[in-house]
Amino acid sequence: MWKEDQITNVLNLTMKNNSFLKSAAKPWYIKYIISLFLVAVATGLKLSFFYSLGSKTPFLLYFAVIIIVVRFYGKWPAVFACILSTIVINYFFFPPYYSFSIKENDALQLIIFLLECFLLAYTGDSLGKVVNHVAETQRTFKVLIEKSSDGVMMLKLDGHITYSNPAVWKITGYTSEDFKSLDFWAMLVHEEMSYVKEKFYNSASHTDRSIKVQHKIIHKLGHPIWVESTITNLIEEPSVKSMVVSFIDVTERVVRDHQMEDFIGVASHELKTPLTSLKAYTQVLEMRMKKEENVTSAILVNKIDKQINRVVSMIFDLLDVTKLQSGIMHLNKVHFDLNDLISEITDSMQNPGQKHQIITEPGPAVIINGDKDRIGQVLINLLSNGMKYSPDANSIHVFTKIEDNFIVIYVKDNGIGISREEIDKIFDRFYRVGNVKESFQGLGLGLYISSQIVVRHGGRMGVSSEENKGSVFWFSLPL
Ligand code: ADP
Repeated sequence: MWKEDQITNVLNLTMKNNSFLKSAAKPWYIKYIISLFLVAVATGLKLSFFYSLGSKTPFLLYFAVIIIVVRFYGKWPAVFACILSTIVINYFFFPPYYSFSIKENDALQLIIFLLECFLLAYTGDSLGKVVNHVAETQRTFKVLIEKSSDGVMMLKLDGHITYSNPAVWKITGYTSEDFKSLDFWAMLVHEEMSYVKEKFYNSASHTDRSIKVQHKIIHKLGHPIWVESTITNLIEEPSVKSMVVSFIDVTERVVRDHQMEDFIGVASHELKTPLTSLKAYTQVLEMRMKKEENVTSAILVNKIDKQINRVVSMIFDLLDVTKLQSGIMHLNKVHFDLNDLISEITDSMQNPGQKHQIITEPGPAVIINGDKDRIGQVLINLLSNGMKYSPDANSIHVFTKIEDNFIVIYVKDNGIGISREEIDKIFDRFYRVGNVKESFQGLGLGLYISSQIVVRHGGRMGVSSEENKGSVFWFSLPL
């Protein structure tokens, strides 16, 4: 019997592009005719050996025919070749030659030969399928990588680039020829070099670790481009044994973000300045009116002041949404005492003569690492909503609890509540519950902004509510 590697070698040889043998687009019977032809050739060769060597000529030629047939035409033509070979061998090569032998010993030998042929046909067929599948998969992946719009590079630990796909050449302007003498570091800008190297070696020191990093690359023509790279450590992967850097060109997005950031900066400054003056004037005016005991005018000016406050808060909400949308809301994280923040806010919101009383229950003392102003903004939003949407109630409760590794801040009101159908939508941008639109003013942005702030701190936000009974809004922050 043949060894497995011999069979594989023959298979590999026969796999090479052979248009004569390839079965595509040929009628089905051609496979059987070619099988017949190959058996005939093998028999012809064997007969020529037979005259010089006698009956000791090898049967391996038939095995070779079967391997070729199974590789190109599959199992059934191979089975046909097996049976045909057995008949031919019996007729030509077993005594009495040129007639069929019916001796028991010969029959046994032929049965063994036939079984070996079947086995070969079967294993050859399975092996062929596996080989085809592997080749197909390799082709698919090659096409995927070659046609991908993401740049993909394989790198050695010293930054030497051993493979780059066409997208890399398109994005960077360099070709695989350039990369023979140019390493990855040479494409980086000087200021970012140590930062990107740190990320690279951080990934290199952990198997299977992927790290995302946004950085600049100098195009071959000299101008910078912004890319978002994912560095993956596949050194332990036997088929790759490299660091893999895949990246996309984000230049357009970065330029747009910078423009947006500039716009937000200018817009908020330009809007804030006149509104601050307006507010200062109305306050002076209100004081004057009060002094002159012009009560009606003082009330009117106070109303103007309130409307200015509303405009200011709406402008800030719109600017916050723009920042969130373009991913440029920066958090200035510091460590602070949560209970101090809660008291600061509740004290500032508890005005004399105000209908609602804010009742704070003492909670666990915790230090939070977060943006104090932004977390304060979330609490202010929940408290002002609590007051706004509970016109008939006169208290709002604030309390905190530690749950798992989070501190959860609750704001409870006894207001109009939210129906079950609407409750999932209230954190969406610009969403306002149907029945409040007429009676309560608002843009439907406060909860959206608040939930995004909480998520950016690694926490969650939620609500439980019953219509006409009240709501409990909560948000959690990691400890
Ligand atoms: P706004 O209050 O400006 O409409 P929010 O994003 O703060 O925007 O709230 C979205 C919607 O959620 C509100 O329009 C209201 O319908 C509902 N809502 C928020 N807080 C409460 C509350 N405490 N009780 C009842 N409904 C609420």
